[in-house]
Amino acid sequence: MTAPRRRRAVLGLGISPGVALGPVYYFKNDIGEVPRRELASGEEAAELARLDAAFGEAEQAFRHLRDTNTANLSEHDRRIFDAHLALYEDELLRQSIAARITHQRLNAEAALKDEVDHLVALFQKMDELHRERAADVRDVGNRVQRVLVRRQQDALASGQPVILWARELLPSDTLTLDRNRLLGIVTEVGGEASHVAILARASGIPAVSGVQRFDALAPPGSTVALDGRKGRVWVDPQPRLCGAIERTRTRLVAERRLLQESAPAESLRKSLRKRGISLLLNIENFDNLDPSVLRAADGVGLYRTEFLFMGRSTFPSEEEQLAFYKDVLRHVDGREVTFRTIDVGGDKALPYLVTPREQNPALGWRGIRLTFEWPDLLIPQLRALLRAAAHGPLKILLPMVTTVDEVRRARVLLDELKGDLRRQGLAHGEQVALGAMVEVPVAALAAADLLRDADFVSIGTNDLLQYLFAVDRNNLQVAHLYQPLHPAALRLLRDVIAAGRSAGKPITVCGEMAGELLSTLALFGLGLRRFSMSPVHLPEARLVFRSFSAEDALALVDSVITVDSAAQVGALLRAAVAERCGAAALPFLPR
Ligand code: PEP
Ligand code: MG
Repeated sequence: MTAPRRRRAVLGLGISPGVALGPVYYFKNDIGEVPRRELASGEEAAELARLDAAFGEAEQAFRHLRDTNTANLSEHDRRIFDAHLALYEDELLRQSIAARITHQRLNAEAALKDEVDHLVALFQKMDELHRERAADVRDVGNRVQRVLVRRQQDALASGQPVILWARELLPSDTLTLDRNRLLGIVTEVGGEASHVAILARASGIPAVSGVQRFDALAPPGSTVALDGRKGRVWVDPQPRLCGAIERTRTRLVAERRLLQESAPAESLRKSLRKRGISLLLNIENFDNLDPSVLRAADGVGLYRTEFLFMGRSTFPSEEEQLAFYKDVLRHVDGREVTFRTIDVGGDKALPYLVTPREQNPALGWRGIRLTFEWPDLLIPQLRALLRAAAHGPLKILLPMVTTVDEVRRARVLLDELKGDLRRQGLAHGEQVALGAMVEVPVAALAAADLLRDADFVSIGTNDLLQYLFAVDRNNLQVAHLYQPLHPAALRLLRDVIAAGRSAGKPITVCGEMAGELLSTLALFGLGLRRFSMSPVHLPEARLVFRSFSAEDALALVDSVITVDSAAQVGALLRAAVAERCGAAALPFLPR
């Protein structure tokens, strides 16, 4: 008889609201522990074939990587590529791994790992040249291992809806997952403003982060329940708790529906417009977007184009991008749409973009800093956007702007590209607004200067707060210091909003703050009128605008901004919300 499993409750950080119940599924994007088992007799041939196929696939992907980056490779990079290709072709390496499969009766993953570890240890004891070789062997081994592990996952991936566990879910991973099958997400890494949180909220998937070694707590086959607002996860919950989770889920769905239906979205949108308030959406794609949600908004305030570049093995061409942007314009049907140029670097990587290793990626080569130096990437994108502008109104937004010179440089480039398009006789937009993200503190401090050259500004509070508080937005150890309602942060935001007003240019907030009940209210009181958010946040933002006039919000925020802690601001705003909105606010209030 097997011992009954221990039921467990784990406390993490709620990063996307909602509750879920279902079987756990492990998603391994890092190699971590590789599966190890002894082969049954007759299994060797299949394992050898798996190994061969994995080598073949990894080699092909690697060749592709080299071919798409040739123009940007230094001599040193080229040598590394050549050394790696020689390893993929190295018959001896494959034979020694194969020998472990046949003689030691190991599965392909374990045989590969053991041989790589053995070679690395050997090379590391030798001279400098061989030590470099150790890194090459490790790298090639990892790439082949990833193919092996991923294959196993694909086999697992078919079937029923699951609660997915990953140590860290990278933006590109989310593209390979079928979001309709995700009941919930549990991760080890990722704060409230992390990309996994943003994507989970955008897709309405409840998620909890900060759960360590979940694989040890919840073995495969476990049932898991989670509450993404309270940040709780239960392993093999009691039937009573399962019942409660199910009831909460039904209640949340009903409450959201009620809130959505209580004022027809379209008429509410119009009445907000009369008050000068714009509700815009943050979008990565239209796959899971209900068209009625789009109708309830004034357009797309932030289209994160980097997602178009992920989940593929080469840069999309100018023509491919043009077709894509035109399709977006068709979806938004005459409403405004702001495309942000590709924002990679930091925690957003592209497999086919080889960048040097950085000590501090968040402070390094990301956003516009990177794309300025990568014309193969930026120029086709800007040309495609300019050409798409002939088919509908669009704006271009630059990510990670630090100084006004960057806006000027982009403007000069856009003018040159328009000239080229004119000479080539290609239809394009002549008057395309160019804006800057304000997400670097110095850009916030210099917003008035920035606004002399930029046509508009969009405040990226996710990054701005990470840099203001010196808190990595993915690091849960310091998540308590990530404080959107800190009065000093609010005062800085007030100054940026005021700079926009004086310049007579649009200011939007497109970070997560724009749509979270208390911070939406705070921003409204600070004078903001353009809010761009994940679709999941629309109901709570609408609740704010239905319950508070601009004057009330202003008076409230004027009085709370004088205190000295985020906790106090939170408590005061919460009390005001409780008084005005009553029970309607409950599903949206943080724990
Ligand atoms: C931000 O930083 O607030 C933002 C909207 O950009 P992202 O979350 O994509 O970095
Ligand atoms: Mg950002």
